[in-house]
Amino acid sequence: MEYISGEIFTENGFIKGYLGIENRKIIDHGNSNPPKKPICKGLIVPTFVNAHTHIGDSFIRKKNIKLPRNIEELVAPPDGLKHRLLKETSDKEIIGGMKESIDEMTKTGISHFCDFRENGLQGINHLKKALGKTNISPVILSRPNQLTYNKEEINLLLKNSQGIGLSSILDLEYSEIEKIAKHTKKMGKMFVIHASERIREDIERVLDLKPDFLIHMNYASESDLIRVKDDNITIVICSRSNEFFGLKSNINLFSKIGIDIMLGTDNAMLNTPNILDELKFLKNMTGIFSIENLLNMITYNPRKALNLDYSILDLNSSNEFMVLDKKTLRALYIPRNQR
Ligand SMILES: [Zn+2]
Repeated sequence: MEYISGEIFTENGFIKGYLGIENRKIIDHGNSNPPKKPICKGLIVPTFVNAHTHIGDSFIRKKNIKLPRNIEELVAPPDGLKHRLLKETSDKEIIGGMKESIDEMTKTGISHFCDFRENGLQGINHLKKALGKTNISPVILSRPNQLTYNKEEINLLLKNSQGIGLSSILDLEYSEIEKIAKHTKKMGKMFVIHASERIREDIERVLDLKPDFLIHMNYASESDLIRVKDDNITIVICSRSNEFFGLKSNINLFSKIGIDIMLGTDNAMLNTPNILDELKFLKNMTGIFSIENLLNMITYNPRKALNLDYSILDLNSSNEFMVLDKKTLRALYIPRNQR
């Protein structure tokens, strides 16, 4: 048995101790010094979760195009620049870009990511091809190609993904979105939507769709956020993406109301999918969160929202833990990546 020691990050915060590992699984733990010299010391934390990506546009980052800093021009379906580029680019180039993003996530300690897959079934297949035999677990939220509800299309998407992720209640007829959301929930799958990203949207209309969680909420008012909190809904914030578009979420208000926050890196054409970079950006921007708060946003909070239950002290559970350098938070040892 090998040991790692330091401060273990549990659902209730840090405790001092060690973990005993065999075959990349935890088979022992204790709160004293380990029985023999540990192979690694630092913060022992669950592997990271990137709660919001669109890795299909990774290939655009390499093109060195001056991207418009306007959400509608760049990403709004169906005619935003991103969607035009996706249409005219080969599958091979799109999948190649996705592979690079997946590789970077795996190396930086991310074990799960929730990807908003555009382009219907073809988009899902692109991601599945890019994943190959990598040891990262995707939560795929797919998106219909059609702008109106089509029962067969939604059935097909739900069969091949964990749910549906839409861009905004402003991008489709609301009555069509209602049908999509109802169908998704009836099948026991996840329904997630971006909300109040660039303007305030009607919170009642958003919540009536029974979303599993929400993305952004930059322009949410205090009363909107209180409604979200009452419904026990977690929000993904993507601060670097917001900054690109000159937007900002009201983090102080989120914190005051006690919203459960998760972090996402959003469009891969704008930023790398390294969630630790996102965490550091938020840390430097706000300065109001403790290290426990911040780590929760990329470990336990997203696991709860994505139904990926995990406890770091459960013996023989999956190998979703790693050791970080206490100062830089850089991953020093990721057992699941060891061959
Ligand atoms: Zn997004």
